Amino acid sequence: MPPQTRTSTMPSLVDDASHSGQSGSSRSASKPKGSTSETNSGQMLKLAGALLAFLLAGAVVAWQVLSREPDIGALSASTTVIDAESGEVIRRFPLPLDKVHPWTNPKTGRDTLYPAEPCFWDKDGSVMPEPTWVLVNDYMGKPGETKCPHCARRVVPRNPMPPGEKIDEARLKAGLLK
Ligand SMILES: [Zn+2]
Repeated sequence: MPPQTRTSTMPSLVDDASHSGQSGSSRSASKPKGSTSETNSGQMLKLAGALLAFLLAGAVVAWQVLSREPDIGALSASTTVIDAESGEVIRRFPLPLDKVHPWTNPKTGRDTLYPAEPCFWDKDGSVMPEPTWVLVNDYMGKPGETKCPHCARRVVPRNPMPPGEKIDEARLKAGLLK
């Protein structure tokens, strides 16, 4: 059985490789072909083992991600939306999974709800404990940049947030965090 033979001789091959690396050229000169091929097969085995471990790890991660998918779906199934007509902001609005915005405002029955983007900046450049919720032109298919009505900074889809610690700092100051 070739595989077993290889496995049982692998440690000595590895030893061989490390010795030949240290003990210089006389040894490799005495039998160059043999030692080279042995070292190669040992390295190949190690490489194959590493590759297998890598693939296994990848498969495990993929499986974990796939098996967690229902949770991710549940988390992303609600978001903060803003009504394009009234400016009303609705937190944790349950998103219909089969429809993109605009969504129907249950109060008016009209399709006027769009994703709301948070802008945490205050006029003076400090970070606010609660964001201004902004209706971004992009979501309505309107051209042009969107400016925050509070601080006049540009707001984009998936608007970048200030560093989390800045928001925490502002919330601490406002007494929202203990
Ligand atoms: Zn702002």
